[in-house]
Amino acid sequence: MWTKIEKNLINIRKPGRYIDGEWNSIHKTGADNLVRVCLAFPEIYEIGMANLGLLILYQIINQRTDALAERVYNPGIDFAQYLRSENIRLFSLESRTPLNNFDIVGFTLQSELVVTNVLSMLSLGGIPLLASERQDKFPLVIAGGPVTINCEPVAEFFDAFVLGDGEEVIGEIIEVVKKHKSESTSRMDLLLAIARINGVYVPQFYQTREDKNGITVQPVVDDLATTITRRIAPLNRANYPLSPIVPYVQTTADRLTVEIARGCWRKCHFCQATSYYGPWRVRSEEDILFIISEGLKHSGFSEISLVSLSSSDYPGIESLLEKIQKIKPWPIKISLPSLRCDCFSVGLAGHLGDKPSGSLTFAPEAGTERLRQAIGKYLSDEQILETAILASRAGWRQLKLYFMVGLPTETAADIPAIVNLVKKIKKLTNLNLSVTISPFVPKPQTPFQWVAMENPETLKQKIDYLHKNISASVRAHSLESALLEGVIARGDRRLNPVIRRAWELGARFDHWDEYFDFRIWEKAFGELGIDWRDYLQPIPLEKNLAWDHLRFTDKEVLKKTLVSCWKENQLTARENISVKKSLAVFPIHKKIAVSDNPYLYYWRLRWSRQMPVRYLSHLEQIEAFRRMYRRSNWPLAYSGGYAPQPIISFGPAISVGYLSEAEYTDVALTRKMDISVLRRMLLSEIPDGFQLISLKPLARRFASLEKSINVGEYWMRDSGWPEVAEKISEGLAQSEIIIEKEKNGKIEKINVRPLIIDMKLSEPDMLKLILRFSPHQNVKPEKILARMFAENEEDLKPQLLICRRNLFIEFAGKLFQP
Ligand code: SF4
Repeated sequence: MWTKIEKNLINIRKPGRYIDGEWNSIHKTGADNLVRVCLAFPEIYEIGMANLGLLILYQIINQRTDALAERVYNPGIDFAQYLRSENIRLFSLESRTPLNNFDIVGFTLQSELVVTNVLSMLSLGGIPLLASERQDKFPLVIAGGPVTINCEPVAEFFDAFVLGDGEEVIGEIIEVVKKHKSESTSRMDLLLAIARINGVYVPQFYQTREDKNGITVQPVVDDLATTITRRIAPLNRANYPLSPIVPYVQTTADRLTVEIARGCWRKCHFCQATSYYGPWRVRSEEDILFIISEGLKHSGFSEISLVSLSSSDYPGIESLLEKIQKIKPWPIKISLPSLRCDCFSVGLAGHLGDKPSGSLTFAPEAGTERLRQAIGKYLSDEQILETAILASRAGWRQLKLYFMVGLPTETAADIPAIVNLVKKIKKLTNLNLSVTISPFVPKPQTPFQWVAMENPETLKQKIDYLHKNISASVRAHSLESALLEGVIARGDRRLNPVIRRAWELGARFDHWDEYFDFRIWEKAFGELGIDWRDYLQPIPLEKNLAWDHLRFTDKEVLKKTLVSCWKENQLTARENISVKKSLAVFPIHKKIAVSDNPYLYYWRLRWSRQMPVRYLSHLEQIEAFRRMYRRSNWPLAYSGGYAPQPIISFGPAISVGYLSEAEYTDVALTRKMDISVLRRMLLSEIPDGFQLISLKPLARRFASLEKSINVGEYWMRDSGWPEVAEKISEGLAQSEIIIEKEKNGKIEKINVRPLIIDMKLSEPDMLKLILRFSPHQNVKPEKILARMFAENEEDLKPQLLICRRNLFIEFAGKLFQP
C-alpha cells in the first residue's frame, strides 16, 4: 500500500507531512504484544506538531515496555480525497497502521471548532462515528484537551474523556486495556473499568435530564461518581521529551518548546485556560536548564520557546534567561510567547536574543481601565503605554495588540477607547501596530459562563467601527465562527446530531476562514429543529448547567466572582496592581562578530537523498542539514549579526519528490579537524534517507555552490513511452522546444532547447537528461518530457521517479564536478 501512496505523494500538497522518519520519532517493534495507542490531532501536521501535550504523552507511553504510541494528524483536503478515492484507511505516521487497528485512539481537542475534523479522521480511519456503534474489535476513542471542560456536545462520538492533565491517567488507562486484552473481557467491562479511573468520564454511563432547573447529567451505574474531577499531575522532569521530535516540515512551533509553568494565577474572568490548566505550578529552574541542554543537544534546534500561559510571570525569569545564555551550545534565539504588559521588564527583553526589530505581542483585551478591571485583567493605561514606549526605545518595530468586543459590562465608551489607546501608542512610539479584534465568547467554567454572547448585529457594528477608525492594520476574527464556538462551548448533548449533520453536509476545517461556511451549520441546526441562538442567551445563576458534572473549578467561587463583578460595575483599581514607575533602558542588543578565529576550515560534503526525505522541499532540507550539523557537535563557525547562523552553503534547489545523489553542502569550521573524527561525529546524527557520499577538505573557500553550479544530470525511469528514441532524436534535431511557464500570474513561452545538453536512453529502462540552468532560466525535466512525449505532466510525475545524479560546473564548454 505504502509504495502506491508514496508514488502519488508527488501530486499532494506538502507531502513532507505524511512521510514519517522525523529525527527522534520512535518506531517500536513487536507491536502485537503491546497496548497500541495512536495519538491523534485533528488539525494538519504543521499545527499539530506544535502541541506539546501530545508529545509529552508520546514520550510517556513509549517509555513503557508494554505499550507504544504513534501519531496521526488530520490530512489536508487533497490527501483526504486521495485516501477516500483509493479506499485507503487513514494511518499512523510511524508504522502506517490504519487507525481502526489500534487499541486506543486518543484525540487532543484544543478548540470547539475542530470537532468536524475528528469525524473526518474517524471516518477515514475506518472507525464508526458513534461510541454506541463500536463493537469489541474497534479501538477505544478517547479525548483530552480544553474542550473536555464541557464535552457534552461531542459526548456521543467518544468512548471516554480524560479531564485535566493526562500524564498519570494515561498509564492507568493502559493498565486497564492491557488487562482487558489479556483476559479478553467485553467492551462493556472495559468501559466500566475505564469509567472507574479518577478523572475519566465515560458518557455512555451518564444520562441527561432537562427540566425547569436546567440540565442534569447523572450516572446510570450505581458506583460511578456523580461528579468527575479533573486530574492534576506534577511537572515531572522524567515525563518530558528530552529528545524532541524534529519535524522536516516547518511547523507553527519549529523550535524547542519548554513548558516552564502550567496554569495561571491571574484568573481573568473570561479565561477558560485558568480552569482547564489548573493551579499555577512552576517547573524548577534546574529542570528547565536540564531540559534545554538535553533538548538542544538531541535536536539541533536554534530557537527555544519558554511556554506557559503567562511566561513572564515565571519567578526569576530574568535570572533563568541569563543562565540559559550561559549553557547554550550554539547561538540561539529565545522566545516568550505569552507576555503581559505589567511584567514585561526591560531585562527580560534584553535576554530574548531576537533582534529588537522583531515583533512583540500584548493583549490589553479592552480599551478602558474600567472594563479591564471588570473582566479581571488588571492593567492600567499607564502600564500599556509605558511598555510600548520601552519596546519602541529599545528598537522593536512591531507590536501586536489583541482586543475583545462584546465583553460583559462593556459600554458605548469602551469601543472608541480602543481607538484612542491605539492612537496614543502610535503617537508615543515608532512602532508598527497590528490590532486583532475578537468577539467575546462566554466559556464554561469561567465566571462569565452565565452571561450572554452579544448579538451578532451589534458585534458586527463594533468590529466595523474599529476597522474604520483604527489607523493601523486591523484583523478581526470571523464573527460567525465565534458564534459557533460560543454555541458549542455552552452546548449540550442535543448538539451531537447537529455536528454530525454539519459534517455530512461538508463542514471541515471550521477553524480556517477559507473553509468555514456558516450556512452549512445553519442548515444542520435547521434540519434538527434547534435554534443556535438559544445557546448564546444569558443563563440564570440558579440553573443546573450541562457541564456541572465535570469539575474543573469551584462553581460557587465562579458565581461569587460574577456577582461581585456585576455589582461593582464602577469597579476601582485593585491594590495589588503593580505599576511600573521606572522607564528603564533596554540593554543594547549586541551584534555578534563572525568567529573569533580568523582562519576558517572549509569542508565539502556530498549527500544522497532517498525516501522519506525525497519529499522535502529545498528549504526543509536546508533546515534538516543545519540541525544535523549542530547535533553533530562539529566546531561550526557562525555568521555575525543579531541572529547568527552556521556558515554553510548549499547547492542548487531540488524539487520536491526528486531522489538525488548530488546534494552538496560546504561547511565552515573554526578548528582544524581530522576527517575520521568528523565522519564519526556526524554519522549518528544523519536523518533517515540521507547518506553521506563524500567528505573532503577544501583548500580555500570557493564561490558559493549555488552560484557556481549550473548543470544538472537527471535520470528517469523509462516507463515504456512509445517510440522514445525516435521522439528524442526528433526533439533534439529542432532548434526550438517551446514550453509554457507561469510567471507572476502570466503565461510565458520559453524555448528550452538551448538548456538541453544531452538526452538519451541509457542503462535498461532509464532516460538521462543533462540540463543547464541559471537563476534566470531553468526548466524541470518533467516539463520537457511532457512536452516531447505529449503527456500530461501530472500523470507523468508519479511514473518518472526522477533522480538528480550529478551536478556540474560548466566552464569553457567543459563540465567539472564540484
Ligand atoms: S493572564 Fe492570560 S492565561 Fe492568565 S488568566 Fe489572564 S488571560 Fe488567562
